[in-house]
Amino acid sequence: MKITFHGAAKEVTGSCYEVETEHAHFLVDCGMFQGGKAAAIRNQAPFKFNPRAIDFVILTHAHIDHCGLLPKLCRDGFKGPIYMTLATADLLDIMLRDSAHIQEYEAERALKRGRKKEIEITPAYRMADAIAVSRQVSAIEYNEMSEPALSIQFRLRDAGHILGSAIIELWAEDQGKKTKFVFSGDLGQPDRVILRDPTEIEDADILIVESTYGNRIHKNMEDTIEEFVSAVNETLLEKKGNVIIPAFALGRTQEIIYYFYELTRQGRFRDLNIFVDSPMATAVTKLTWRHLKLFDEEAKALAHWSADGDGVPNIKFTESVEESRALNKFASGAVIIAASGMCTAGRIKHHLKHNLDRRQSTILITGFQAAGTPGRKIVDRARTIRIHGKDIPLRADVYTLGGFSAHADQNALLSWLRAFKKAPQRTFVTHGEAETANYFAKQIRQQLKWHVDVPEAGEVKEIDINSDGASMEATSLQKS
Ligand SMILES: [Zn+2]
Repeated sequence: MKITFHGAAKEVTGSCYEVETEHAHFLVDCGMFQGGKAAAIRNQAPFKFNPRAIDFVILTHAHIDHCGLLPKLCRDGFKGPIYMTLATADLLDIMLRDSAHIQEYEAERALKRGRKKEIEITPAYRMADAIAVSRQVSAIEYNEMSEPALSIQFRLRDAGHILGSAIIELWAEDQGKKTKFVFSGDLGQPDRVILRDPTEIEDADILIVESTYGNRIHKNMEDTIEEFVSAVNETLLEKKGNVIIPAFALGRTQEIIYYFYELTRQGRFRDLNIFVDSPMATAVTKLTWRHLKLFDEEAKALAHWSADGDGVPNIKFTESVEESRALNKFASGAVIIAASGMCTAGRIKHHLKHNLDRRQSTILITGFQAAGTPGRKIVDRARTIRIHGKDIPLRADVYTLGGFSAHADQNALLSWLRAFKKAPQRTFVTHGEAETANYFAKQIRQQLKWHVDVPEAGEVKEIDINSDGASMEATSLQKS
């Protein structure tokens, strides 16, 4: 039995793990790489395995760094089912269409600007490829056992990260021995709004755990909310500027809307004019309401208040490009939420172009910004930010509100690990930048005394579990 880490190995994007057992050959996630030209090159390169040889895929959630290369996988010959939760299945189609649209659009722009390199003018896949994925989707309920191949069973548990997100528990029999894998997927921070807490898992032989914030402790929620309220009120009431919030259309946008509602209900905000300028975010927000039964109790209560309509903030979902452009004429008083979350594409770029160089305006960063993205440059307060080929001076205020993160912080990750009743025979730390993943692995070794590895991209680990659970070989076979 062996596992290959094709992505999210010492980095946060491109999640894709390939598992080969005696009876099956499958993938967990098939995500896009994000962050600059290097990522685009990897997204276009042929897969390092044969897509035709893959029997099935299990998808943890609908974020593009986990699902974004599925259209390429299917186009290149993968014919099997893709398992996911019902909510993820609803979201997937929206996400993949948007991704195809962005790529076609960027390729067209590059062509118009006279670029000639193949990499710049060819999208990793097209709209038709994105639409075709739905034929292979197999949606299942949380906690329901499935048997996708001989001697393989798995179930999806709530990961509390975004709507539909899942942890995978999977049992594989290989030469008469049963091995239990747990793939954490992305884990949510406990006690966050809307979503339930990540499910605690009690045992695993092989554990693959994310580490996005494995070296950080989020600011507590109360401080984050205070900073949020004062940044918004100061910008709108004193500086008379706009508040620009780059936000992932899926997850973050709905949470930010939740906070604007909840804090208005508490009297902390008044007369807000909020624009959600992302057709995808609008579609996801509508879809989120349809899955009310997955919400926690507070979110259900707020849903009832907002349905009354008394004192609720003025919120407008802009659809057309004209409506979006019209927002540029607001010099003050607008709260604009737009995608993409790391400012790499989409309408947020236009709003940044019009606000970055204005001292009155404020950029509120509410999610993770990968190295190399414009969002990261804003967080690091670069002197200028390159948008649509122009360097815009960064004069606006920037607030980074880490407390809103959709990812568990170091304490939450460690406490999720502590729920395991005994040490997994082998733990692999993934989905974190190299320094972070190494640091988190060290914490696990020191605090839990577990056997931990931090795989490199392309690394293959041979897995051989002793049935008595006493020892295990995990040898590194090759690196690509
Ligand atoms: Zn995610």
